[in-house]
Amino acid sequence: MTETSTTPAPEKINLVGLSREELAAAVAAVGEKPFRTKQLWHWIYHQGATDFARMTTLARPLQAKLAEVFEVRKPAVSREQTSEDRTRKWLMKFADGNEAETVYIPEDDRGAVCISSQVGCTLTCTFCHTGTQKLVRNLTSAEIVGQFMVARDSYGEWPTPKDGGRLISNIVMMGMGEPLFNYDNVSRALKIIMDGEGIALSKRRITLSTSGVVPMMERCGEDLGVNLAVSLHAVTDELRDVLVPINRKYPLKELIRACRDYPGANNARRITFEYVMLKGVNDSEADARQLLRLIKGIPAKFNLIPFNAWPGAPYECSTPEAMDKFVKILNDGGFSSPIRQPRGRDIMAACGQLKSASERAREQERLKRMAARVEALAPAGADARAPNAAGNA
Ligand code: SAH
Ligand code: SF4
Repeated sequence: MTETSTTPAPEKINLVGLSREELAAAVAAVGEKPFRTKQLWHWIYHQGATDFARMTTLARPLQAKLAEVFEVRKPAVSREQTSEDRTRKWLMKFADGNEAETVYIPEDDRGAVCISSQVGCTLTCTFCHTGTQKLVRNLTSAEIVGQFMVARDSYGEWPTPKDGGRLISNIVMMGMGEPLFNYDNVSRALKIIMDGEGIALSKRRITLSTSGVVPMMERCGEDLGVNLAVSLHAVTDELRDVLVPINRKYPLKELIRACRDYPGANNARRITFEYVMLKGVNDSEADARQLLRLIKGIPAKFNLIPFNAWPGAPYECSTPEAMDKFVKILNDGGFSSPIRQPRGRDIMAACGQLKSASERAREQERLKRMAARVEALAPAGADARAPNAAGNA
């Protein structure tokens, strides 16, 4: 550490991401009455105010007092990109310099924001780009709620519009990371988002996707009651062990039992089974039939995801013919099984393509160094460049 002559100002406490109880404690700690908690909550999560001076129901001296110790801080946006299909992606930069991506997927008059729960992911699903990223930490509840708030800033959706009149109408916890490995922060963030006096998004409009962290699934259903999506991707343990390695810890039998027992699942609120279509790997007609047998009796729906390629990925997307046959079998089994239209592919915003820009840059550097080494080794005149070494990440 370098020494400086001036003492740095103490860090302010960020009010974003505090639960109601924590906010109340913060309010009490500065000697203010409990009703201030409700006022602050309204300004931050209903009005979207970040500047205490804008909080006009608070007297000036109180605004100044709060601003001295507190702040309302959202993640910084290092980059915003909008795809040809209107999908929008933000690269969020957090206070420690770490980054994660957030995506908004628009439908006609509504849409879902896809939120990250970790920087990278400790799991190593072999078809997922995020899974190849090394740097991992859990996002804080402030960083999770903050992603949603930044999306709202971008679409000018403050104050909170009435349900039904919102462009950002849904949340899917399907960005970078495994949300059930960061349950405390995810649940605190989602409870803030669901609170009726602020952002007020109903649990019915929130879907959490898990790779199958079996011991946390029941708690998630009981505590949050959000919709559950499960990344199934294979119908045998042998294959799922490879595609979704957490399967070695929580094999299919246990995963399916946890789905059967998921609190609140019924025919009106089905569990979504996500299934990435990988050419020649998991897309046969026999796979489709086994899939139906596997989920028999569970209130289920399917989300078939065409594989989104990334540089160096060891798989290809199934052919349209294979996907059609697969879908037909599910249809005949009584499921509508839509194939998810890939969105935002041109800006690398599609499922499984998320990765922080700095990580991509590191990868680029690594490939360049490799190319240079190969070139140095090559006999003079020979054209021996490393395959895929340039401009690919
Ligand atoms: N970690 C959680 C949530 C994030 S991933 C989970 O695994 O469920 C969101 C979805 O995208 C998952 O179903 C995941 O399996 C899928 N996915 C990952 N990489 C993909 C790729 N390259 N193409 C298509 N879908 C992918
Ligand atoms: Fe992690 Fe989900 Fe990607 Fe698997 S698919 S590596 S759990 S983000």
